[in-house]
Amino acid sequence: MTKNKSSLVVGKTVLTMNEERQIINDAAIKVTNGRIAEIGKREEILEKNSDLVIHGGDNFLLIPGLINAHQHLTGDRLIRSCIPDSITDNEAIFDWAIPIHEAHTSEDDEISATLVLAESARNGITFTVEAGTVAHPGSVLKGFENIGVGGTLGSWGWDVGDGPYSGKTVDDVLSRQLDVLELTKEHPSVKGWVTLVGHDLMSDDLLKKASDLAIENSTNLTFHLSPNLSDVESYLERTGVRPVLHLKDLGVLGEHLLIAHAVHLNDQELETLINTKTAIASCPWAYLRLGQGVTKFGRHPEFFSRGGSLSLGCDAGNAGDNVDILSSAKLFAGLIQESEIEGMSSASISALELATIEGAKAIGLSNEIGSIEIGKRADIVFIDLEDQAWKPQSPDPVKQLIWSAGTSGIHSVMALGEMIVVEGTCLKIDEEEKFSDLQERQQRLLGEAGLEPRPHWPTV
Ligand SMILES: [Zn+2]
Repeated sequence: MTKNKSSLVVGKTVLTMNEERQIINDAAIKVTNGRIAEIGKREEILEKNSDLVIHGGDNFLLIPGLINAHQHLTGDRLIRSCIPDSITDNEAIFDWAIPIHEAHTSEDDEISATLVLAESARNGITFTVEAGTVAHPGSVLKGFENIGVGGTLGSWGWDVGDGPYSGKTVDDVLSRQLDVLELTKEHPSVKGWVTLVGHDLMSDDLLKKASDLAIENSTNLTFHLSPNLSDVESYLERTGVRPVLHLKDLGVLGEHLLIAHAVHLNDQELETLINTKTAIASCPWAYLRLGQGVTKFGRHPEFFSRGGSLSLGCDAGNAGDNVDILSSAKLFAGLIQESEIEGMSSASISALELATIEGAKAIGLSNEIGSIEIGKRADIVFIDLEDQAWKPQSPDPVKQLIWSAGTSGIHSVMALGEMIVVEGTCLKIDEEEKFSDLQERQQRLLGEAGLEPRPHWPTV
């Protein structure tokens, strides 16, 4: 973090994403000690601060750093595009992704996390919620630091079945979680979360104690639930009720909980999640890539339109694949259009809100991130309006950003007041050097996991 240091950021237009959704033209932002200290008309702010270093310029659209609320930083990324897309989602996860996770060394974890977060930063994502499938949290924390972005971090948490790092007892699982909370206690930009794998791989006792642990430590809990129908079937068989209703009976729903997916919800479950202010991370590309029924059964646009706490995620390297939240936002905007919900506000506006301020609210961090406002982290994306995707420029930058430009034109990124990407290059690491052995790493991981991906067509 920049200590006792100020700089200025200037732009042609700033989408603040503040409460009034104010747009400021000819704007300047003063950044002090990593946080936004002033924001207003350029002339005024420049006059008072003429000695400061200036970032940006006349050709930039400035937006808040984007939020990815569900991302696996390890495992899939090093075998991206290797898992066949002709198998079921459960086969892709349990026969491929999990054995690859099991083969990861501590160094693999750092390289994978750094690789994902470098791609994130280049695509304007300055805050990432790690999905919790991390073997070596210290190495993943290093990944965050290598790039300079913020996020949340957890560790494998399951006590049903015998997957990698599953706990024999509830206390085993909780002690791994406590270690991460301890590791991140004083960290300026990465926060420890309690993370369970979820699905039907957690006992009721673990779930209740993990929820208590999150609340006691003023942090959040996240896990996977109901991306497909198998969780619904499994909970009905074990408990007699659908998954969300069982969680309600256990008393674990609430603002501190972010459920990844919840694609398959009945009316009562949807209502329960809204009423308890439980948040959902929606990863629309993953549901399509894995064929999980989102276009037939998904209700996230309805959930959001009824005041549900929603955020967007990119998921994993073989489930959503690219770490590009603007691409998820565009897809989600399409799902909003398709849902034909009466009274729903503009799809592109909702999509940008979900990638910024609404996403921040869902993960309980709207005092820190999600908008360009005084006191918040100076997480700012600089979009070059000279880029072809922005020519000619529409009077409505939100529609142009979501529906057409996407990440085209993302030129620079500031996180916590520090320039971490300039001209599309991550500044804190030498990517060429850091990632020089990715092919060998992939081969070794596939070999250790006993997996042999093949091209689809005969190859000579
Ligand atoms: Zn996931």
